[in-house]
Amino acid sequence: MIAVPVLGEDGTRSPAAEALAVSAFALDVAVDAPRHADIAGPLTYRSSVAWPPGTLVRVPLGKRAVTGIVWSRREEASPTPGDLRPVAEAIEAVPPLPIHWQTLVDFAARYYQRQVGELALSVLPPELRRLGAKQVAHRRARAERLAATTPTAAGPSDQPTPTPEQSAALAAIESARPGETLLLHGVTGSGKTEVYLRAAASALARGRQVLVLVPEINLTPQLEARFAARFPDRRIVSLHSALTPAQRLRHWLQAHLGFADLVLGTRLAVFAPLDRLGLVIVDEEHDPSYKQQEGARYSARDLAVYRGRLEGAVVVLGSATPSLETWQRTREQRYRRLEMTSRIGAGAWPAVRIADMNRVSREPRTSGLAPPLLDALRARLARGEQSLLFLNRRGYAPVLNCLDCGWKSACPHCSAWQVFHKADRTLRCHHCGSSARVPRACPECGNLDIAAVGRGTERLEEQLGALLVHADGRAARIARIDADSTRAKGALEASIGAVHAGEVDVLVGTQMIAKGHDFRRITLVAAVNPDAALFSSDFRAPERLFALLMQAAGRAGRDARHAAVSEMWIQTWHPGHPLYAALSRHDYAGFAEAQLQERASAGLPPWSHLAMVRADARTADAARDFLVAATEASGPYRDAAAVTVYPPVPLPIARVADVERMQMLVESRSRTALQTFLAAWTPGLHALRRTAGSRILRWAIDVDPLAI
Ligand code: ADP
Ligand code: ZN
Ligand code: ZN
Repeated sequence: MIAVPVLGEDGTRSPAAEALAVSAFALDVAVDAPRHADIAGPLTYRSSVAWPPGTLVRVPLGKRAVTGIVWSRREEASPTPGDLRPVAEAIEAVPPLPIHWQTLVDFAARYYQRQVGELALSVLPPELRRLGAKQVAHRRARAERLAATTPTAAGPSDQPTPTPEQSAALAAIESARPGETLLLHGVTGSGKTEVYLRAAASALARGRQVLVLVPEINLTPQLEARFAARFPDRRIVSLHSALTPAQRLRHWLQAHLGFADLVLGTRLAVFAPLDRLGLVIVDEEHDPSYKQQEGARYSARDLAVYRGRLEGAVVVLGSATPSLETWQRTREQRYRRLEMTSRIGAGAWPAVRIADMNRVSREPRTSGLAPPLLDALRARLARGEQSLLFLNRRGYAPVLNCLDCGWKSACPHCSAWQVFHKADRTLRCHHCGSSARVPRACPECGNLDIAAVGRGTERLEEQLGALLVHADGRAARIARIDADSTRAKGALEASIGAVHAGEVDVLVGTQMIAKGHDFRRITLVAAVNPDAALFSSDFRAPERLFALLMQAAGRAGRDARHAAVSEMWIQTWHPGHPLYAALSRHDYAGFAEAQLQERASAGLPPWSHLAMVRADARTADAARDFLVAATEASGPYRDAAAVTVYPPVPLPIARVADVERMQMLVESRSRTALQTFLAAWTPGLHALRRTAGSRILRWAIDVDPLAI
């Protein structure tokens, strides 16, 4: 074997490479090979050119041609076996992906127990998997042409003078070490976005790129507009799954080619290749949307922290209600904590009022609203102020019930009820999507009197319409925003516009209305039935509820003129619950301490580390058998002291679309022990799955699962 300097320092082919073009190199190429899921690493191909690591290539896989990425460099031109299949072409229009990008993908694949090629390809723009070299070259030319036009001519927007709290936070971010992570813990309305903007400005001024992650696609346009207004001479690109495939490729290319100064996007943007990354901002870092829920179940927030360290970028995690994992890291001094406790221009925080349902006599209870809450709503109506009520359940009623024979509207395909939707008189399953006409009479006994049990947003809307009337006799104007009312394109924008324009008195909706929107005239926010989360089998449910209620409370009194009358109402059967008490004090820190203590005594995260193995099958037995066999296979690797594998249990909703779902928890006090165990154990599960054959539909592993 002869060592040959194949490529120059700048990655271009050297004359030596040209001379060697006739001989063959063996290249390790990462490909997405789902059918060979137990192939952990890249596959080897033959090439006449030693393409450097990070180069995109087209290679044959089975009968198809697929896109792959040259993963590792082989220094020597080794005599290559003749049976290696050749690389078809290199996509030279895309410069090799940087080594730190490969390191990030390698880490994520290892940590989340996925095949590196699968993960690598899944985080590239889908177009790159489809197009050949020539087509990509065209796209690149177009991306470059568009990047060459100057963004906008307008001068930068007005910049508010930072408050002392903002200045202190900024000073801390400025003085952070490269790779350091900071938590910006700021209440809603404390001006976190202004801190992001100024921190971004200084990173840009140093010639570095900025990556801003937001939890939801519909929050990107708002934030993009604010960044665009502040940085009119900078190129900002967005990356999220709602872009057209062509846009997504163009934006990605602009990032990778170095044209983009700021990249703004959802979780997938954490993989944007950026060579000069100086600052990563993760807004609403506690939001569950940062965790991918299928395929490689990565946490973009956690990868952002890893990436910051890898590339020497400062990472700012922002939240009013940080995840307990992040909070614990600040207690351990692993992340620096920056506090912003006062709301800008909004005056007082809304007073929290508890409507105790135990004290409501039977009669008004059927209307579903406690009299004091109803009075408060009527007072708003009389003063021309707006109210917002949320209820985390869409439809009219969660179940229909025959009071004679006990029949209920069960979904034929799921262990769940079909929900009654009055608007189109259907029964719909929210898990599998099946739907049926509402029966005229009980399908079992013919009784005509079927009751709608419980309440969803449709029914709340109807009830409020009957209860709230203006002084002159006009009915209150009620708008509903949920997944049903906003299905049509533009419907959400129209409803939100109507609220802003003051054409709505009361806004009813699911939790989607509690997030993000800056409604100025709302002086009352009410959570109509938040109790379920207090007793959920998911230990994170209280944490999520607290975050939601804090965020919802922040919706009220955004306008200082109304702050004094702003109220947040909790309608509950458990008025003394510590969670509501902490909410009343606006006491995140107190809530977090109490939760952390509970979790410590139960040995739950962040005090332990979890992975969840799931199996789906046509029968519960088949799913369980697979998990039991998996547990048996873990014997040789499981150091009893370090890792516990719990028995399989059905998911809270065991059957969905005729698929039975089981899961089992793997737990360890040590992240390293858990990782070592998973790395040794999971490769064998692919083989086990093949043995199970068609009895198992699929299995998956979720490291650091969010939903239990
Ligand atoms: P958060 O993201 O923390 O909820 P925002 O960044 O949305 O808060 O800020 C709340 C409001 O205060 C926004 O309307 C913003 O423009 C305004 N604001 C932020 N910083 C200042 C400041 N230093 N002076 C005046 N207004 C500010
Ligand atoms: Zn019946
Ligand atoms: Zn169903």
